[in-house]
Amino acid sequence: MTTEAVDLLLVHGAVVAMDHSENVCFDGALAIRGRDIVAVGTSSELLDRFSAAEIRDCSGCAIIPGLINAHAHVPMSLLRGLVADQQLDVWLFGYMFPVESQFVDPEFSYIGTLLSCAEMLRGGITTFVDMYYFEDQVARAADQAGMRAICGQTVMRLPTPDAASFDEGLERARTFIEQWHGHERIIPTVAPHAPYTCTDAIYREAAALCRRYDVPLNTHLSETAREVQESREQRGVTPIGYAARIGAFDVHCIAAHCTHATEDDILLLHDHRVGAVPCPSSNLKLASGIAPYRRLIEAGVRTGLGTDGPASNDDQDMFVEIHLAALLPKGISGDPTAVPAREAFALATSLGAQAIHLDHLIGSLEPGKRADITIVELGKLHSAPRYTYSPDAIYSHLVYSAYAADVRDVLVDGQFLLRDRMLLTLDEQQILAQAQAIAERINDFLANREQNLLDKILAIGGVHQDEIFEVQVKAQLGERGEEVIQQLLVHPHITITKASERTQYDTYFLFHNSERGRIRIREDHRLDPGARLKPKYTITLMAEGRRGEYPSAILLSRARYTAPADYTLRFYREYFQPDDIVELEKGRKRWRIVYKGEDFAVNLDTLIGHRNPGPYLEIKSRTWSRKDANHKAELIGELLEIGGVDEANLVKQEYVEMDA
Ligand SMILES: [Zn+2]
Repeated sequence: MTTEAVDLLLVHGAVVAMDHSENVCFDGALAIRGRDIVAVGTSSELLDRFSAAEIRDCSGCAIIPGLINAHAHVPMSLLRGLVADQQLDVWLFGYMFPVESQFVDPEFSYIGTLLSCAEMLRGGITTFVDMYYFEDQVARAADQAGMRAICGQTVMRLPTPDAASFDEGLERARTFIEQWHGHERIIPTVAPHAPYTCTDAIYREAAALCRRYDVPLNTHLSETAREVQESREQRGVTPIGYAARIGAFDVHCIAAHCTHATEDDILLLHDHRVGAVPCPSSNLKLASGIAPYRRLIEAGVRTGLGTDGPASNDDQDMFVEIHLAALLPKGISGDPTAVPAREAFALATSLGAQAIHLDHLIGSLEPGKRADITIVELGKLHSAPRYTYSPDAIYSHLVYSAYAADVRDVLVDGQFLLRDRMLLTLDEQQILAQAQAIAERINDFLANREQNLLDKILAIGGVHQDEIFEVQVKAQLGERGEEVIQQLLVHPHITITKASERTQYDTYFLFHNSERGRIRIREDHRLDPGARLKPKYTITLMAEGRRGEYPSAILLSRARYTAPADYTLRFYREYFQPDDIVELEKGRKRWRIVYKGEDFAVNLDTLIGHRNPGPYLEIKSRTWSRKDANHKAELIGELLEIGGVDEANLVKQEYVEMDA
């Protein structure tokens, strides 16, 4: 009898094919020629039928489809462990975005990807779906590792480390797709980050790119309850509804998270054949929620699993994700039959392949599919003993007791990438050293920043520096308040250019080490007719300890930095971690005046609910020049005289320093 020649026979393993038959063959074998699986069967059958260049014994092992990590940001392995246990906004806007804008460059993406590929291969992952910056470097590293990947060039409306605007981001994506299109294992694509960071135009143009090159669109949808609520308020639909409306589902779409998918959303995902990819560890760690795993699977949605970025997980271990996907639905439903082990395992294999639209190539062990294979040792202390009376026992084994460290061999396209736990395409020691070198630089940056409020405030963006000198004087007026103001404002040398009335709610962040300065977050409500209706929020850093004093208690303060306060008070509190917080509410009448050709602000302030409510007179002016500051200090002295303010009533403290 003649035998057929193949390159490799894997024999005597428990073959978990994840094909439609749901067969498990306990003394199973696989025949591989080139990049393809040519046969799956019993060991004796395949040993009879084929002659192989190599026969590899897999006794005591499970032979499974290579695991699919359907959502990741692999270069972020370099940010692993950088900050934990924070709200999503503090985590993202306070740490990830500032560090990324400072450090992410082509080398970062490349080294970070190499580190992740080494980790993922050791954990039996053969395919990953990525979304990051300098995605050509992710593709280059993944290709070098020999892995299969869908690489999405991130686009968002905010400036990113690799694009100053979204037009540039889209252009970068187009060039990247053109360069890598047609590659054997790497699928280049575009990744509009999420509806809350993108515009309609970004999604439309990204979908057009995906249609043109027939590549899947990769995005985040409905990760948090807040995102869903804000989308409803701003766009009248859920993020998933929005993605459908804007055309993101008219092409193959991979939607990460879907943590808060509603029943209507689930129908949309199903009808548009969208891949839904919850990330159990990340969703738990960032307290985003628990995805409706059971409903997604029951409704026939193409559902996968992802690790998400290693900065929010922190490992890239699909055994952990499968484990959680099996446990979480049970825990929240009170039903131990929810998402049984086989279904959970399918999320990272056969069903996961559908979610990323590659089920024609991978996800199961069948003739004609690519030889992307993981070999897992069973019978370790934590997984012994073994039962074989029911095929389900093997799923139980793989889902509830196997570890990433049990992976012995990994093949992609029929090539060994991990063999006897040795990485064949990557130099592990060199990668670890390169990763640590980048981490040291980030470490120094953060160590300095954490001590420096200016660096911290600069890191969240939108900051401008005010005129560096402020000259100001304050006086307690008591009952003479209105009289003083009248006397000032009607003076023939004074011209009023603007007048307003407002209520200001100030929150001060104070620090034991006062040299660090203090931070004020102001909510400013205009009360005068015709003024803006919405309150204005600003955050100001005031540097202390550099204050000069003139006669008449005129103060000179220096270095103020102001930015729109776009985040919540809670965000700032968690981000700056002040030692003390003081709140101050005041009514303020303000006049902008010109005196002897110079501008001044005149405030009449009443502190609400304060022991010394005032009213207080403040006269202030700002300037960039020291000489000018001296001149203005003299003029303020003159203004005090015009108002008839008694020197005894001058106050040297700021409001925040006065006893409340
Ligand atoms: Zn993500």
